[in-house]
Amino acid sequence: MPPSAPPRARAEIDLGALRANVRTLRAKAPGAAFMAVVKADGYGHGALACARAAVQAGAGWVGTATPEEALALRGSGALPADVRIMCWLWTPGGPWREAVEADLDVSVSGLWALEEVMLAAHAARRPARVQLKADTGLGRNGCQPGEDWDRLVAAALEAEEGGLLRITGLWSHFACADEPGHPSVAAQLGLFREMVAYAEARGVRPEVRHIANSPATLTVPESHFDLVRPGVAMYGLSPSPQLGSAADLGLRPVMTLAASLALVKQVPGGHGVSYGHHYMTPGATTLGLVPLGYADGIPRHASGTGPVLVAGKWRTVAGRIAMDQFVVDLGGDEPGAGAQAVLFGPGDRGEPTAEDWAQAAGTIGYEIVTRIGARVPRVYV
Ligand code: PLP
Repeated sequence: MPPSAPPRARAEIDLGALRANVRTLRAKAPGAAFMAVVKADGYGHGALACARAAVQAGAGWVGTATPEEALALRGSGALPADVRIMCWLWTPGGPWREAVEADLDVSVSGLWALEEVMLAAHAARRPARVQLKADTGLGRNGCQPGEDWDRLVAAALEAEEGGLLRITGLWSHFACADEPGHPSVAAQLGLFREMVAYAEARGVRPEVRHIANSPATLTVPESHFDLVRPGVAMYGLSPSPQLGSAADLGLRPVMTLAASLALVKQVPGGHGVSYGHHYMTPGATTLGLVPLGYADGIPRHASGTGPVLVAGKWRTVAGRIAMDQFVVDLGGDEPGAGAQAVLFGPGDRGEPTAEDWAQAAGTIGYEIVTRIGARVPRVYV
């Protein structure tokens, strides 16, 4: 694309909204530090820009899944050196020496990981910052309670005494905090307290203990401990319809996805639209071509259901969403060249929201924004 050409589509990222969301979330957990979760390229919003904005709004920590994501943030040099960066998806053979050299906080769920991080610390000739992760009931990552935890704590303490690492955190992750009143929340909290108490009784002195994601930050104050780790709410999406809409929660969606219509044309009734002809025009009408498709992350499951604002009205995706384009039936309206199709945004300018798209596609808002692909330029406003 020549530099002056307008992009066919763009994702506008409102960093002011992100900063406001961080402040709103911090006010919910006033005694706790704030870790901005920016994995998966900041849930599709751009990891570095969002991390910087979150830090401006008071985040002292940034969290990613992979060490590569965390190293890219540290390597950018664009975050203050005292901002802590934690990554939690340990896999064998990862860049753990670089992670130690970059002063990342690395999560460890078991002895394999601990040993590899110790070797990395030895090679880097400096102690690793290690956070021990407890599986308190998510059944995914994390160390099982009981003997496994006892062994991990003992091995980590021994390595700490030997100067190979510093145990900076004890932490866990919720399974069902987005379902108000779900009994697993209290059960996980109880087990977390026990596992932390066990480790502390053995001599672990963590800087931070943490378990709260967005829904827990918003609705479970007793889960805040020393630090909260919100992701999706920082981007202005509700973690779950059961908790209310983003607006109900005082959050403002950060991403607006829009495209210029690439073609407007009149067709007769009975005209088949897109692959499989799943939409037949009910009568003579106008079709608009939106130059975005599933290669850009527009969910194919929203074929026939996804809402789009064009010329002041909600239209529905007509027929199948293809790889690079889809069609809307404009019902005879004839917007001029360059007319905008807004797929989603904050919702207060008449446009649908990412939550509307999640409903149309049978998925969650997290997936809608995170999957918007690299072909769509992010424009920071
Ligand atoms: N902490 C961890 C370990 C995560 O994997 C995630 C995201 O899934 C979060 C925090 C943030 O979760 P949410 O986006 O629901 O706030």
